[in-house]
Amino acid sequence: MDQIFTPWRMEWISRQEWEDAPNRCVFCEIYKKKKGREVGIIAENEYAYVVLNNYPYNPGHVMVIPKEHTGSYSDLSEKMLFAHTRLKVRALRALETAFNPHGFNTGLNLGKGSGGSINDHMHTHIVPRWEGDTNFMPLLSDTKIVIEGLQETYQKLHEEFVLQEGTEDRGEDRSVWIFE
Ligand SMILES: [Zn+2]
Repeated sequence: MDQIFTPWRMEWISRQEWEDAPNRCVFCEIYKKKKGREVGIIAENEYAYVVLNNYPYNPGHVMVIPKEHTGSYSDLSEKMLFAHTRLKVRALRALETAFNPHGFNTGLNLGKGSGGSINDHMHTHIVPRWEGDTNFMPLLSDTKIVIEGLQETYQKLHEEFVLQEGTEDRGEDRSVWIFE
């Protein structure tokens, strides 16, 4: 799938950097590295974080990712599953108020045969949808233009998370901490 991006695209992780280090897990590395804007991490609770997709299918495409390194959904403990789901709900709310989408696609690619690009660290995609936008996932579409800049998306979602109850704003360049 070819994507056309506008110039204000975030340059947080070049593909090359990860292709040169195939044994490192991108989702573990970005969380270890920078817990905030620089890597697109918008918010986190004890067990999971929500990050902007660097190659969005639509504006506001985010992923909810467990801090635990596992490719298996069923490996997550009850606590982790609960935290994952709670964060997903909060992300949906933030996206609703920030972007007013007409709907969402949300789901998992599990295992090598699923078509996902990262199989060893599970993650839930949330893709806002608008009536008349192009088809979900690259299977059916070729080129699309992502109009919303990632920096702007980050800013909007950060603000929405801050407004939610049970959160702590640790500064605009750091992820919003969710303590309940
Ligand atoms: Zn990992």
